[in-house]
Amino acid sequence: MEWSGYAGKVLEVDLTSGSITINELDRDMAEQFVGGKGFGASILYDRLPAGCDPLSPENMIVLATGPLTGTSVAASGRLELCTKGPATNLWLDCNAGGSFGPELKYAGYDVLIITGAASEPVMLVIEDDDVRLVSADEYWGQDTLETSRRLKADFGGDYRVTCIGQAGELLSPLASVQTEYRSFGRGGAGAVMGSKKLKAIVVNGSGGLRAADSAKLDMMIREAANELANSPDTGSARPEFGTNVLLSLMEYTGIHPNKNFQQSTLEGEPVTELEVSRYFDRSRACFACPIRCSKIARVKEGRFKGAFTEGPEYETVWAFGGHCANKDIPTIIEAEHVCDAYGLDAVSVGNVIGFLMDCWERGFITAEDTAGLEFTWGNVEAMIEAVHLMGKREGPGMDWSMGVRYLEGIIPGAAGLGGHVKGLELPAYDPRASKAMALAYATSDRGGCHLRSWPISEEVMVQNPLGQHTLEFKPEVVKGQQDFYSLINSSGLCLFAAFVLTMEQIAPLMEYATGLPGLDSADKLIAAGERINTLVRLFNLREGLTADQDTIPDRFRTDPLPDGPCKGETVDVAQLVSAYYCLREWDSEGRPTEELLNKLGLAERSAASQQ
Ligand code: SF4
Repeated sequence: MEWSGYAGKVLEVDLTSGSITINELDRDMAEQFVGGKGFGASILYDRLPAGCDPLSPENMIVLATGPLTGTSVAASGRLELCTKGPATNLWLDCNAGGSFGPELKYAGYDVLIITGAASEPVMLVIEDDDVRLVSADEYWGQDTLETSRRLKADFGGDYRVTCIGQAGELLSPLASVQTEYRSFGRGGAGAVMGSKKLKAIVVNGSGGLRAADSAKLDMMIREAANELANSPDTGSARPEFGTNVLLSLMEYTGIHPNKNFQQSTLEGEPVTELEVSRYFDRSRACFACPIRCSKIARVKEGRFKGAFTEGPEYETVWAFGGHCANKDIPTIIEAEHVCDAYGLDAVSVGNVIGFLMDCWERGFITAEDTAGLEFTWGNVEAMIEAVHLMGKREGPGMDWSMGVRYLEGIIPGAAGLGGHVKGLELPAYDPRASKAMALAYATSDRGGCHLRSWPISEEVMVQNPLGQHTLEFKPEVVKGQQDFYSLINSSGLCLFAAFVLTMEQIAPLMEYATGLPGLDSADKLIAAGERINTLVRLFNLREGLTADQDTIPDRFRTDPLPDGPCKGETVDVAQLVSAYYCLREWDSEGRPTEELLNKLGLAERSAASQQ
């Protein structure tokens, strides 16, 4: 079959045997599951042995592009990484920009499947149909920045690199996979790569992509680009401030948490986007992106002079900032830089450090437990040293780099003090101040995450906002966004662009790029988003997920916010979850009903997996 939008091939590499196979992309999978996250769900649901250890050779990594990845559509450089995650022992998918995804498609592949495990460090080199495994001995033990720099020097600047650092090699469930300054950050995918002894993937492609209807696609591309340029978000605020555009609004609404979710405010003035932006050196764009929300920040003086990072992102400014009662921006830049170098997820690492500071202040840990570091609130020296210990997994860093859920279990008195859902540390939004966010956290397929649904947009940012504290319409918003986000994370488009474009603009892009009848209307695409989420739900249920895990830490129900605009607020997420189950056509145990499985064409698959 001649493909449009898609490259049309699936590359599979078995690291145990060294075998490399190339197969045709399945057309039915493309029409039902679109690409990206959808392809990962379809492949992992059918092939991953139930209950497998995420760090065993049985686990698989699926790197999947979408039909728009590598096209001329704005912000279409996205790539999905799907696997079983070590932080949660459940489904994990991460989405990253940059240029690796487009390059993989130009080499001829929509999907790269990695199975098994090598006995010695290896890296995978892909040059069109010349695909080979080579020794990575000389790179093993190096950080991600050095690995990437050396590989580009060895192979050429136009080769794209995805790699892990020491944290992944040492199997930390906080380990990220880095792809040239962008991250597959959350949930420990770096440890899965490390367990397979796969240090890096290097790709260079010489092919191109065809469109089903180039004239109509070009017209829609221009319309979408205009929309992005004229939007106050993607045309102005985000290019200027990056993701930190949220800082003042989250402070003003009381959603920004501080001190390990103990407070809503800190003494003195909060950190603003303007202050962070003073450290920006320049902007950087992912593939084909006019928004250029990526910032290179650099510290020009003081003790962290010379520190730089692509960021810091809003979530990092929170994790190493307010979460740890710290307002020193150079420290935050240094912390993100060190996380990137070791290949660590900055959100989870900052979250752990704020949790340790809370434990220290309550007397649950002392200098005997911390290699002498004093975890008083805002102690930036302890913070930076802790990141190094976690990256190298040295001393107490061995335990710290296991994450908050693990630490709650081993620090006497600390049970219930951490902010995590299903083992994944929470991001920068207090669920007591955003009731819909509480539901989004409770029902996110990869644990505590804001990128499955970010309903704060509907609570405070639209013309007729729902408000932060009502429960009405929150399940509808969360379900709708989850299905939409899963579709977008399957398409190859960046979520930030999709926040601005309408489905009436996105659907024709998919139709004219691919020409596939299954992808030619907004209704079919949103149904695909629901199908993907439902299959991921079946995956998680098979891995042992139960309804009582669809919740948030109990302290958000029992401990009111003590200050700020949402003072006195708590949240009991149970009734929201129950209404959400109904809306999703799941039973009271959170299991998709037979009617729903039939409607989405998943009944046979579900039955086959239970045999
Ligand atoms: S909006 Fe930002 S994250 Fe998204 S593709 Fe553009 S530069 Fe990358």
